[in-house]
Amino acid sequence: MAPLPSTLLEPHTPPAVATEPHVIVRGERLTVWDSEGRSYLDATSGMLCTNLGYSQPRLVRAAARQMTELPFFASFAHRTTDVTLALAEDLARLAPLPMGRTFFANSGAEANDSAFKLAWYYHRCLGRHRRFKILSQERGYHGTTVAAGSATGLDFVHRGFGLPLPSYIQVPCPDPHSPLRQGLTEERFVDRLIDHLERIIAVEGPDTIAAFIAEPILSAGGVIIPPSSYYPRVQEVLARHDILFILDEVVTGFGRTGAMFATTEFGLSPDLITVAKGLSSAYAPISAVLVGRRVMNTIAEGSTSIGAFGHGFTYSGHPVAAAVAREALAVVVEENVPAHVRETAPTLLKGLAEAFHGEEFVRDVRGHGFLAAVTFVTGSGGRPEGEWGSQVMAEAVEHGLLVRAVGDTVIVAPPLISTTEEIETMVVLLENSYRSALAEAHSAQ
Ligand code: PLP
Repeated sequence: MAPLPSTLLEPHTPPAVATEPHVIVRGERLTVWDSEGRSYLDATSGMLCTNLGYSQPRLVRAAARQMTELPFFASFAHRTTDVTLALAEDLARLAPLPMGRTFFANSGAEANDSAFKLAWYYHRCLGRHRRFKILSQERGYHGTTVAAGSATGLDFVHRGFGLPLPSYIQVPCPDPHSPLRQGLTEERFVDRLIDHLERIIAVEGPDTIAAFIAEPILSAGGVIIPPSSYYPRVQEVLARHDILFILDEVVTGFGRTGAMFATTEFGLSPDLITVAKGLSSAYAPISAVLVGRRVMNTIAEGSTSIGAFGHGFTYSGHPVAAAVAREALAVVVEENVPAHVRETAPTLLKGLAEAFHGEEFVRDVRGHGFLAAVTFVTGSGGRPEGEWGSQVMAEAVEHGLLVRAVGDTVIVAPPLISTTEEIETMVVLLENSYRSALAEAHSAQ
């Protein structure tokens, strides 16, 4: 076996990889530079997270100030820090649900794990000792820890790990292009999805199900935008069985859809909302569970008999991350970033549609806010399943553009501060990348 190229065990990378990793060393606004000095326009916002770009001076100053004042103290056993409390207050003011309190963690997956535990704790407070099952969607993405990974509906997260755990059950993906739709109208398709959900609840037993978790738009699964009547109807079913609704706004929270929260935009009323990524614009690792008032009141009352919420992390509400997050939220509010996304998103969606609609090998173009995708026809142009995405992504790197591929889909999720001109440049670079991939497909035929 060839010697390994570095001492880093890289996430989401085959350990046997024999080439040097691509090393990024610097960033400014939407541009990053690699160790060879080449620059790239980042149309993925890091991992859909550097919403304010790479050189927001206010976030840097906030981190430095807090590092000097108090670099760390734990939030544990009724002791916390002033900035942790202040961030919880900020979130309570912004939150799109009748708020109880906020629980802090460090990543999206940890927030989702914490939301599951809160759901279990809630039911235990009500004496429902059998409610442990978690429902989620095929192709939903909630992280890769053992619990969040079990709720994630993507095979590569499960394979070889004995996941999902037995109490995690997946319902069909609400993808308008799903084979389950089979020529049905949107309304009939939603009827079918709801029938599936009802059947799964009946078979499993409603008194065994704690919560249902879903993203408003399924992001890492390939920018899947469910029909607009889907979630309202899901909510109605969940409410009837007192199954908690956890909305994963890890990607959509803080402006990506053109609203501060997709919860408000889509008129949803979840019991718990998880956020991460845009919370600090990724300048510091921090995530949160926004706990709605109803759940909060129940667990506050129930804890008097069942004891403390036995869950938390050394870095829950880390003061430096909290200070950065407070500043990131202040920038998002003061600069009205969601309104900028709303105004600029048509350039992205129209640009992609003009560049790709009707193109040979393109299935469709779709998007909402600064979350868009182009899907290629699987298996077309002599390319095996999933190759179009990786081929276009690789060509994009050559053209100085970073995008993300999921199977035959390429995701475009620019930082939320991108201007109209920057978006137009991204679209041109992506189209050129496709043309290069196309030329290669033709020459190989
Ligand atoms: N939830 C959603 C919707 C995500 O897209 C992600 C990551 O991409 C996560 C959760 C997991 O976040 P993390 O990678 O910080 O654990």
